[in-house]
Amino acid sequence: MDYRTLGLKVGLELHQQLATRKLFCECVSALVEESSGLRFRRRLRPTQSELGEIDAAAIEEAKRQLTFVYEATPNSCLVEADEEPPHPPNPEALDTALEIALLLNANPVDEVHFMRKIVIDGSNTAGFQRSALVALDGHLDVNGKRIGVPTILLEEDAARKTAEAEGEVVYRLDRLGIPLVELATTPNIETPEEAREVALAFGSLLRATRKVLRGIGTIREDLNVSIEGGTRVEIKGVQELRLIATFVEREVERQRMLLDLAGELKRRGVGTVPAEVRDVTLAFADTKSNVVRSAISKGGKVVGWALPGFAGLLKGKLGPELASHARVAGVAGIFHSDELPGYGITVAEVDMVRTTLHLGPHDAFVLVGEAETKARNAIAEMHPRATAAIQGVPPETREPRPDGTTVYSRPLPGRARMYPETDVPPIRVTKGRLDKLREALPEQPDVTVARLAKAYGIHEQQARQLVQEGSDAAFEAIAREFGEAKLVASVLLYNFGELRREGLDVEGIPVDHLRELFALLKDGRFAKEAIPDILREMARGVRASSAIEALGVRGLNRGELDSIVDEIVAASADIIKARGDAAEKILMGRVMERVRGRADGKLVSEVLHARLASLPADKPREGKKKE
Ligand SMILES: [Zn+2]
Repeated sequence: MDYRTLGLKVGLELHQQLATRKLFCECVSALVEESSGLRFRRRLRPTQSELGEIDAAAIEEAKRQLTFVYEATPNSCLVEADEEPPHPPNPEALDTALEIALLLNANPVDEVHFMRKIVIDGSNTAGFQRSALVALDGHLDVNGKRIGVPTILLEEDAARKTAEAEGEVVYRLDRLGIPLVELATTPNIETPEEAREVALAFGSLLRATRKVLRGIGTIREDLNVSIEGGTRVEIKGVQELRLIATFVEREVERQRMLLDLAGELKRRGVGTVPAEVRDVTLAFADTKSNVVRSAISKGGKVVGWALPGFAGLLKGKLGPELASHARVAGVAGIFHSDELPGYGITVAEVDMVRTTLHLGPHDAFVLVGEAETKARNAIAEMHPRATAAIQGVPPETREPRPDGTTVYSRPLPGRARMYPETDVPPIRVTKGRLDKLREALPEQPDVTVARLAKAYGIHEQQARQLVQEGSDAAFEAIAREFGEAKLVASVLLYNFGELRREGLDVEGIPVDHLRELFALLKDGRFAKEAIPDILREMARGVRASSAIEALGVRGLNRGELDSIVDEIVAASADIIKARGDAAEKILMGRVMERVRGRADGKLVSEVLHARLASLPADKPREGKKKE
């Protein structure tokens, strides 16, 4: 697909957790699974900003009428519960944010002022998030292209959602208050692949400070995506960087589909969408549809909504979009005419609905089976979305799903949501502070890549991957101590990659444990063929020495190896006679299978080759006949 012709524009917003204590208290920045047993409940209401407006996203959240339950943890305090004013911002966190700003050639502000940003999804106990602008106008060059960074902010992370039930959302306080650096890029990213590369480049730069948290969820990205004729849509909170290109591709497909849909509606002369609904419960008096019957038996109604001119445009197109808006009103699902008859709803029932709603062949309809008010509210939620389909792509925030698709979550928040934080005094950013940070700036990732490739004789591509995955420090520590740079790189990239795909936590293996592994290898305690098996144990928390013991991969001595080779050669006399020189390869495989990780492949090959060469050439069978 030619994304440049489509006018694709992508901008990223990165949120990186910092490895300091929390921003406004002294609690540890770590997620914990145990609760302290303390829980409390809150409700939140939208309030006016200082400009007197109420934010659209805040209004929509309020409609959900949710109660928020907060679970305190051993690492939360009264600041997180919003029962105590914030302490002064963590100075190390501010230094790290400034350091990142300097690495991006941005201009730090003279004074850091924290603001309150309204959030009403309950993820902050106070109903707002504290956020401060730290620097302006930075940039990073990625593959020779300049990506601007207009703003760099320091803010507090939100509470972590752990459960959701009808009318209630449960949050854990462990994540609330962890310092975040937020970077926004210019929207001059033009392809999905470029979006991925830019994200990786920023990730490498942030990790170069060695002052950021690592692991899944510690960096989250919002993707702002639009194509020509479309609108900016924000995919919020992508944690899996490997999926960034997929999210962008899918969003481009979705916007193209919506633009085609708008074109088709225009051709059909559809200019408005009626808001009227009708009770069509009578059509379902003897229905076989379980969903509809259960709704009616609970005293609910089936409410019908006509969409004139929409026939054929719902299934796989507008249908899923409408359904996600119905969910805002607490309705689990809708039926629409493109997929009916079906789900137990018969042709006769469909015909009766069509008659009741006065529909022609090009008209579509939507049914909601629920308590009547809820059903009507759901249609009221869907109505603006159906109307927006005539224009094309509505601006909105979408939530990423694990398969690379997204689902509508809320309208785009507006500007009406910031007001000053009066509990945190402004902080002057002195020249002395910046000078000190400038003197100690870490190496830029591109410089690290070139240096690792040169100093350790590894491929530049490998060096780049080590930096991107944040394994460069471990690589260097091990390769400097034990040599074997190529093997170390291959273990950290290739073997780690395989184990990660098996779902093992290789990132959790401490560098010291890896150093022990290579020390044992150097001592000849096992052969390098056993590394994958040993690493698999290490990823489960086992030390290398114990893993070697448990797996029985102690290295073979020369005598033991010789007798295994002799034994296999003797047992393979037929093959040796039949296959001649080609037999060596087959026998090599058999020996390697026997010694599995206990002898070095190169040594095995030498021993086997010598043994075969020593066989009498004319009558190999005789050589070992006596056994
Ligand atoms: Zn705290």
